[in-house]
Amino acid sequence: MRLTKVSFSFLLAISLFFGCQAQKKTSKSDTPIYLNPSANVDARIQDLMSRMTLEDKAAQMSQYVGLEHMRKALGDLSEDDLDKNDAQGFYPGFKTTDIARLTEEGKIGSFLHVLTAEEANELQALAQKSPLKIPLLIGIDAIHGNAYYQGGATVYPTPITQAATFNDDLMRKVSAQTATEMRATGTQWTFTPNIDVLRDPRWGRTGETFGEDPFLVGNMGVAAIEGLQGEDFSSTNHVIACAKHLIAGSQSINGLNASPTDVSKRTLFEIFLPPYRRAVQEANVFSIMAAHNEVNGMPGHMDKFMMTDLMRNRWGFKGFYVSDWNDISRIAKWHHVAKDFKESVLFSLSAGMDMNMHGPFFQDYVVELVNEGKLGVERVNDAVYKILEAKFKLGLFENPYVDLKKVKTTIFTPEHQEAALQQAREGIVLQKNDGILPLRNLDGKRIFITGPNADNMTILGDWTSPQPDENYVTIKEGIDQFAKKYKFNSEYYDCGQRSKWITDENINIAKSKAAQSDLVVLVLGENSYRHDWPNKTTGENIDRATLALSGNQLNLAKAIIETGKPIVVVYVSGSPIAEPWLESNVKAVVNAWEPGAFGGQAVAEILMGEVNPSGKLPLTVPRSVGQLQMVYNHKPTAYIHKYNTEKKVPLHPFGFGLSYTSFQFSEPQVSKTSFNSIDDKILVSVNVTNTGEMEGEEVVQMYIRDNISSYTRPIKELKGYKRVSLEPGETKTVSLEIKAESLAFYDADFHFVVEPGEFTIMTGNSSADKDLKSITINAPDKIILD
Ligand code: BGC
Repeated sequence: MRLTKVSFSFLLAISLFFGCQAQKKTSKSDTPIYLNPSANVDARIQDLMSRMTLEDKAAQMSQYVGLEHMRKALGDLSEDDLDKNDAQGFYPGFKTTDIARLTEEGKIGSFLHVLTAEEANELQALAQKSPLKIPLLIGIDAIHGNAYYQGGATVYPTPITQAATFNDDLMRKVSAQTATEMRATGTQWTFTPNIDVLRDPRWGRTGETFGEDPFLVGNMGVAAIEGLQGEDFSSTNHVIACAKHLIAGSQSINGLNASPTDVSKRTLFEIFLPPYRRAVQEANVFSIMAAHNEVNGMPGHMDKFMMTDLMRNRWGFKGFYVSDWNDISRIAKWHHVAKDFKESVLFSLSAGMDMNMHGPFFQDYVVELVNEGKLGVERVNDAVYKILEAKFKLGLFENPYVDLKKVKTTIFTPEHQEAALQQAREGIVLQKNDGILPLRNLDGKRIFITGPNADNMTILGDWTSPQPDENYVTIKEGIDQFAKKYKFNSEYYDCGQRSKWITDENINIAKSKAAQSDLVVLVLGENSYRHDWPNKTTGENIDRATLALSGNQLNLAKAIIETGKPIVVVYVSGSPIAEPWLESNVKAVVNAWEPGAFGGQAVAEILMGEVNPSGKLPLTVPRSVGQLQMVYNHKPTAYIHKYNTEKKVPLHPFGFGLSYTSFQFSEPQVSKTSFNSIDDKILVSVNVTNTGEMEGEEVVQMYIRDNISSYTRPIKELKGYKRVSLEPGETKTVSLEIKAESLAFYDADFHFVVEPGEFTIMTGNSSADKDLKSITINAPDKIILD
């Protein structure tokens, strides 16, 4: 493996040498090879690199925040105050005019957080004035739609909601739509998907993940990357994706963002790394972001084993690494394993890092380190080659600009809105229903709506900016849309917009209004909405010390329960709410997660029975924070003994979600019982019948257990699923495939192998034993996959 690396650098050096010769030969021509669109990408890169100084190259590895972002971050400060401040988002001693000048001089290769299409064009125009005219690569956190800075973009449900759909095709579709919206506004690189496998829901970024299961996270991640990148992102409708964050920040000590992770190599390989391997090998993701945290004492930004030995050399990663926000400098500042920023740059680049997010000095250190002989120039060449490859394939050398006239007609199109609505419909999970839902006989009834998340932008989730009022539907608005059709009256009471600020007086008023109604819709949950920082209760850098409802919400609920009125609770939250008492004292619980721009409409459709709920939990909902770590795919001894004060079962299991109809599953059948070789496949078939009275969709799930293994294995692992739509009385046969990968795990030497022996295959509609039926298969021989 090492040989591959050495030979790549060697070949690059040779080709750069010949590139120089070639350049001399073509120098008479007006158009250098690198500006010739019909030359092949490799020839163009080599030609361009032969013209670049070390400083030019270091500049390509440097990223800055956009000028508008800098200005906004300035807040009340004048540009002259800059050097007195070390706030994020701008650079001490640098004014926006300095950054513009550096761009013009070709000293910046990439920007992030460019706020508008106009600004993207403005920056590209500056770069076009530079000697080599290398266009900029502009990145943005288009995590669930390109709405982080774009008012007017389509805001899809957050990733945890997307995962709850168990619908990879829809994920691929909305990701492709996001890419189109991004390109229209001048960004070509998104820092998504977040394929961190969530193992501690206290982590405020839970809503940004696809949940706790490596297979589901892997599938969603692959679908997202395929949608974003297309074949190889070489079209004007596609962008570069970024798998993040390498690795395991989702199981940090204390559940706090960026705090250390201490996990075994086995857990890394079996739980956290599979989605990354698949992102690289199945979806060819072209960038990977390192994680803030350390793992077992090694900061992610200087982890050579992860970045170079494993991902690049063993698993074949072909793209480039980008640091997370300021995290190279934090190798010294936070982790204290380097003496200063310069040494941090040395450690990080030597480990495989390619681009610094974000700001000055980095590139100066790169140049100094090479000149001092501490960092090999081939490391710089490797990095720059891939960054330029991205720019060439994206077509930026041909056209770095966007057509401002097309922005409005490309974003928030009816088709994109429909997909966002569809994803919300499929991602909402019905957690409890004692028969009250769907609501019936509403004629003349009074519905009282209240709760901190009933009528605001918390439905949009974390990575979005304020959206125009007409672009989203709150839950209150969604319910009101049906008032005429079902002839009910609704009353809304704003009991305090934020879960933190519900007063006792608010509670008393809400209680008396509830007492006068026929039915209460109580919209509770958490708030990750990023542009509402003072009121956030979760999200990036705001973690949860409890999984119970924050603030005064439970008191509000208790007061309303005292009225004796029927209550439907709707949760809006990117992470699970552990409130067993509340769930057993209300009639129904709808977990809407963070359902995006049309979340209010989707929730209302479900309440009214216009849509039959079909979302499934992509994570286990614990009963309390004390149960953590609570995951369905635990090891056999996890629950041998009991707690003194808590049950050892969750509130709701992974994969669970109710419907308004009922489904019956047959025993699973297998196409054969012996799994014989690396290319072998076994089909598992199960008949599913809609035994209720309403059309509905069900997610058929397949779990596998390795019955006797050389290392302990989880009691079950998800290895297949399929959504199926059934009319009342209809039966369909659903087939799921078992591949070698479905049975494999890492042996004592960390080879990926299928060990000979028996496997139990379980099918059903949740991970709970009572919902599963099983059959066994055998693998007679050992199979080595990797
Ligand atoms: C986050 C990344 C994000 C970056 C840029 C960081 O704080 O950890 O996930 O991509 O900021 O916004």
